[in-house]
Amino acid sequence: MSDVVGNPPGDAPGSSLGHVTATRRLLRRLRGIMAGSGSAQERLDRIVRVIAAEMVAEVCSAYVMRAGEVLELFATEGLRPEAVHRTRLRVGEGLVGLIAANARPLALADAQSHPDFAYRPETGEEVYHSLMGVPILRGGRVLGVLVVQNRTPRHYAEDEIEVLQTIAMIVAELVASGELVNPLEMAQSRGGVSLPMRLDGVRLNPGLAVGPAVLYEPKVVIRQVVAEDVAGEQKRLRQAVAAMQQAIDALVDTSHGLGPGEHRDIIETYRMFAADRGWLGRINEAVRSGLTAEAAVQKVRDETRSRMMQVTEPYLRERLFDLEDLANRLQQFLAGQSPGIAAAELPAEFILVAHSMGPAELLDYAHRRIRGLVLEEGSPTAHVAIVARAFDIPVVGRVAEATRRIDGGDIVIVDGDHAQVLIRPSADIQQGVAATVAARTRRRAYYETLRDLPAVTRDGVEVKLLLNAGLLLDLAQLSATGAEGVGLFRTEIPLLTRHAFPDVADQTEFYRRAYEQVEERPIVFRTLDIGGDKVLPYLAHTAEDNPAMGWRAIRIGLDRPAMLRQQLRALLRGAAGRDLFVKFPMIAEIAELEAARALLGKEATRITVEGREPPRSIKIGVMLEVPSLLWQLPALLKRIDFLSIGTNDLAQFLYACDRGNPRLADRYDLLSAPMLALFRDVIAKCHAADTPLSMCGEMAGNPIEAMVLIALGFRTLSVTANAVGPVKAMIRSLDAGALAGYLDEIGERPDHSLRRWLEAYARDHAVAL
Ligand code: PEP
Ligand code: MG
Repeated sequence: MSDVVGNPPGDAPGSSLGHVTATRRLLRRLRGIMAGSGSAQERLDRIVRVIAAEMVAEVCSAYVMRAGEVLELFATEGLRPEAVHRTRLRVGEGLVGLIAANARPLALADAQSHPDFAYRPETGEEVYHSLMGVPILRGGRVLGVLVVQNRTPRHYAEDEIEVLQTIAMIVAELVASGELVNPLEMAQSRGGVSLPMRLDGVRLNPGLAVGPAVLYEPKVVIRQVVAEDVAGEQKRLRQAVAAMQQAIDALVDTSHGLGPGEHRDIIETYRMFAADRGWLGRINEAVRSGLTAEAAVQKVRDETRSRMMQVTEPYLRERLFDLEDLANRLQQFLAGQSPGIAAAELPAEFILVAHSMGPAELLDYAHRRIRGLVLEEGSPTAHVAIVARAFDIPVVGRVAEATRRIDGGDIVIVDGDHAQVLIRPSADIQQGVAATVAARTRRRAYYETLRDLPAVTRDGVEVKLLLNAGLLLDLAQLSATGAEGVGLFRTEIPLLTRHAFPDVADQTEFYRRAYEQVEERPIVFRTLDIGGDKVLPYLAHTAEDNPAMGWRAIRIGLDRPAMLRQQLRALLRGAAGRDLFVKFPMIAEIAELEAARALLGKEATRITVEGREPPRSIKIGVMLEVPSLLWQLPALLKRIDFLSIGTNDLAQFLYACDRGNPRLADRYDLLSAPMLALFRDVIAKCHAADTPLSMCGEMAGNPIEAMVLIALGFRTLSVTANAVGPVKAMIRSLDAGALAGYLDEIGERPDHSLRRWLEAYARDHAVAL
């Protein structure tokens, strides 16, 4: 929470009735000041006096943010009066600057020994030892800092910090009124730069978009912080919570475009947060201490925010954003506003810029004219990213200070492919991007015309194009792309956005829904590939030096057989009456396959014993990802129903080249002699054993790579949804036999890469790449 040094024991935050009464009295006095006469400066002077007296502090000071990120001492009780409007600290300078920079409270019994302590002689503060300070926050912005100091080393308790935070909210209203620092100057402290700028972030959803920025700040002006009628406020809160929950349900029902499935999980988790007793309890407690319902939500929201800044674990951080999103919503309901910016205020097309955003908030905009999204936070597994994917909205996340550097109306380019945001680009860059967007739109329209056409080469080679998926949402892409089925369903992906491991019933329901969505098409489930870069926060896991080569995938499954059995049980139940294709990841030896098969066998027997409907058929496959399998192929192929090459892992182990290391991303080219030789060998052995072979690594989704794979003999490729169109276009323009002949000529060249030869070939033979 806060950096509290040495809390005395037994001082549980917010627990004592005495504390609640004292807080109420203090808030009442402050309300009197706020409603009373006098200038803003006079009221601030009175406020610091009351705080010092009520909180038994020798000093209380208010610092207010001025242009250029400078905190100016605006009022003090206890420090030398001549320091007022003279003492100034930059954000990050001294303890006050530190509080502003981190937007987090700080409480120190011995402030002067803190490395950031900055002594200002004009204040006379050398005699004060302890310090407690909180940021003055409003709408996520730090408007100033409120500090109390004591002469003797004092241990401030958690509930004292909470009280000071509540008071800071009242001061925030005073600062935001624009009477202390004029609004123009406040706006300048947002940076005020108008030059073109490039900001780097993280790719949350690929794609390119350009448009004017709309800053998303869920603005709810809190007009009254302190409540007269506590019971009345509690009732308002209850009603708003109920209304919000109803609205979330309605959002699910009315959100078209997503199809049935994943959004329910997302909104369910979200709804679970909305019913979270801890969260609602803390809001209730704040109402009980005398705040209005809006102010109570704000207080808990600010606390959540400051907690968020401390959490580094991305999954937990994302869940906290859901809470923040809910707080915004609840405030809007309390204020009688409908969530989001009114449609009439939005430009025809726009780029939304937000600090963070919850899935429901994006759903509010998804049907409007949003073209792209820029977030200061977020991760690829964030719910908002998942929803954005479903709507094909490019998103760049973790763009530092986006909301400060981008002003409403600025032209912004969201380049999701390169994880970049361009602000106020020059006219020629804008034109270039607009032309690229238009060309992509045209190309997409062309791919759509291919959707129902077969993937057959000019010389009659039929290719099965399947989809790689990881969420139920992705399955909607089957009909959108015309893919014939799902070649790889990464079952671990839905678990990354959950808060706990699902039980068998949950898993069964999930797989049943997957079957429902694919209709009669085939779907290949891969058992959990957790570990590596896919760590589930709720599953005990120790850090490893080489996680990609560590305890992951089938290794975890076999060491934790109960978990794998539960998944297999759920798959068998979910597949009732359907064909069950199941493949095991990261198999390194036949014994592992046999151990996994034995577990599947036990679960299949159980289905029969329990009298449940079994799958129509069960087909077992193996992912070829670990090179050791290459020398066990004849024996392996006899034992399985299909083999699937996962080049993402296979290549990293073959070349000893970390697939996640950007420095090595272009180091080796799979279009080179060793890979081609490997594929030829695997194809020949699968052919000899009559075992179906497919490829589901990313390689299969690049048209030029797919072109080579088909010429070599691959007939089944499983690719991401946006690769289906381009790969099909390539297939329909290819003469596979002719290219096979050319590969015989160049395939063994010892060059670093054969790519340029192949590009030239495609150009000369009008292959659509
Ligand atoms: C692969 O390794 O190629 C593969 C498809 O599996 P993942 O990318 O999920 O590791
Ligand atoms: Mg893999």
